[in-house]
Amino acid sequence: MIKAPRGTRDLLPPDTALWNFVEAAVRDVFRIYNFHEIRTPIFESTELFARGVGEETDIVSKEMYTWEDKGRAESDKSQMLTLRPENTAGVVRAYIENKLWDRGLNKLFYIGPQFRRERPQKGRYRQFYQIGAEVIGPAPSGSESPARDAEVLEMLATLLDRLGITGWTLELNSVGCKDCRPAFNEALRKALEPVTATMCADCQRRAVTNPLRVFDCKVPADQPIIEKLPRLSEFLDDACRKNFVDVQEILTAVEIPFTVNDRLVRGLDYYTRTAFEFTHGALGAQNAILGGGRYDGLSEALGGPPAPGIGFAIGEDRLVMSLTQSAESVLRKPDVYIAPLGVGMNREAARLARELRRHDVIVELGDESFRLKKAFETASKASIRYVLIAGENEAQSGAFTLKNIESGEQISVARAELAERIRKR
Ligand code: AMP
Repeated sequence: MIKAPRGTRDLLPPDTALWNFVEAAVRDVFRIYNFHEIRTPIFESTELFARGVGEETDIVSKEMYTWEDKGRAESDKSQMLTLRPENTAGVVRAYIENKLWDRGLNKLFYIGPQFRRERPQKGRYRQFYQIGAEVIGPAPSGSESPARDAEVLEMLATLLDRLGITGWTLELNSVGCKDCRPAFNEALRKALEPVTATMCADCQRRAVTNPLRVFDCKVPADQPIIEKLPRLSEFLDDACRKNFVDVQEILTAVEIPFTVNDRLVRGLDYYTRTAFEFTHGALGAQNAILGGGRYDGLSEALGGPPAPGIGFAIGEDRLVMSLTQSAESVLRKPDVYIAPLGVGMNREAARLARELRRHDVIVELGDESFRLKKAFETASKASIRYVLIAGENEAQSGAFTLKNIESGEQISVARAELAERIRKR
C-alpha cells in the first residue's frame, strides 16, 4: 500500500468542514480590517528564503525541501527551487516584483500550505497550513507606527474570540532594530565566548555566525547557560524603547491582555522591534498557535525599496485543534433524500432534485434500483431528516409523499411547496 509521506496527512470530511469554518471566519475578520488576499507560488527560488528568512535559521539550515530544477532547453538555465517553508518572504517578493505600493496594496493576507522537514509529532507536520497577513510599505496604511503593531495584535485577538477560542496567551517582546542590535550582539558574543564549548553543536555554530539564534535552542542542558545571557531589553535604544511602550499602551487601551517575555526572539532572522507569539494551553508541547512581528528592512534585503512591515502566521492545523466546536456541529447535513420509486422514475427524481437545489436545499439523490426500505435505511444512517418519495402516482397527481425519518410522520406536499416545507425545521 502506498501511504501519504511522513509528516503529511489527508484532511477528510467531516474535519474539512471545520477547516472551511475557520477559513470563512478569518476571511470575514480580514475583510473588516481591509486586508486583501494574495496567492503566491508554492515554490520559489531558494535564494529568496536564504536571504529573506536567514541562512542561520533552523528553517533554512535544515528544514527546506530544495531541488535543482533542470532547464528544458539549452538556453534554459537550471535553478535551485524550494517549497515555501513560510509565506512572508514570498509576499514581500511579490510586493517588490509587482510594485504593489503603486496600487495601494499593502495589507495582504494568505491561506495555504507550507513545507518544512521537521520531526513530525502532534501539531507538527511537514506539510502544514498557515493563515497569515502582512502590512507592508509606507503610511498611511503601512508605516513603522506602533499603531500598526497594536492594530494587528488586536485583529488577532478578535479573530480568536470570534472562533470561540479562549485561554490564549499573548507574549510580546521588542527585538530592537539595526541600530541597537549590534551592541547587543556584541555583548552576547562576549558572554558566549567562555561558555560555548559546553553548549550543543548548533549553539557553538550560532555563537559565531548569529548569536541571537542561541535563544532558539531547545536543548535542556543549555537552558541554564542561556538564562544567564544578557537580555535584549537592556540594550534597546530610546526609539525602540518608546515604540515598545507605545504598542503596550495601545493594547491596554483596547483591552488586549499580554505579557512581556524578553527571551522571545522568534525563529526568523528578519524581525525588528515588536515580536510576538500567541500560545494555547490545550495544544501540548507544540503550544504556539501563531507568531509574528515587525520586519522593517526585509524589503531592502530582498532588493526592494525601503518598506516597513509587520505580519504574522497562524498555524491553521493548531487553530483547528484549539476549536471547541465539533466538525458535526458546523457541517450542514443533507435536507432530503429523494427516493425514485419504480422503473423509469430516475428522470422525475432528477427534475425534483434540480428544482429543490435551486432553492438551496441539500439533496441526496437515490436511484430507482433502491427499494423504499433501503432508501429509509440510507437516509436514517446519514442523518437525513426527510425522504421524498418520487413515485408514478405522485408525479401524476403533483403531490409528493414526504416522510420525516425521525418522527415517522408522513405527509403529502404539493410540488411547489416542497422546498419551503423541507427547509422549515
Ligand atoms: P513560524 O512561521 O515558524 O513563525 O510559525 C508560525 C506558526 O505556524 C506557529 O506558531 C505554528 O502554529 C505554525 N507552525 C510552524 N511550523 C509548523 C509545523 N511544522 N506544523 C504545524 N504548524 C506549524
